[in-house]
Amino acid sequence: MIKELTCILCPNGCDLKITCEGRSVENVAGNRCARGEDYAVQELLSPQRNIATSVLVKNGTLPLASVRLTGTIPKDSIFDAVKAIQAVTLTAPVAIGQIVLANVLGLGVDAIATRVVDASCL
Ligand code: SF4
Repeated sequence: MIKELTCILCPNGCDLKITCEGRSVENVAGNRCARGEDYAVQELLSPQRNIATSVLVKNGTLPLASVRLTGTIPKDSIFDAVKAIQAVTLTAPVAIGQIVLANVLGLGVDAIATRVVDASCL
């Protein structure tokens, strides 16, 4: 069986053709570099994603702080990870890189803030 997907690791967006038999990858074509082959195998056998979301902030100049993960997680854990992260409420001030939730779902990655939220003067 041949599966097709687009490599998303760089702007080249190579069209990959993966020849596979069940869960065994026999060949990857269309990739311009080795990273594309690694991506194709992982995408087929264990797709991973990073996620970006936001959490509530108390007593801040903004009501929300944007958040992302420090690494990728299995694609099928995304919904539960977002739910766990959004259950957190921070109190301002919030710094970029501040850990919002450590070791999300025990997957070995942290959720960190990606924007500053200063404390409100009110
Ligand atoms: S295969 Fe290599 S060159 Fe092509 S999109 Fe992926 S990373 Fe970029």
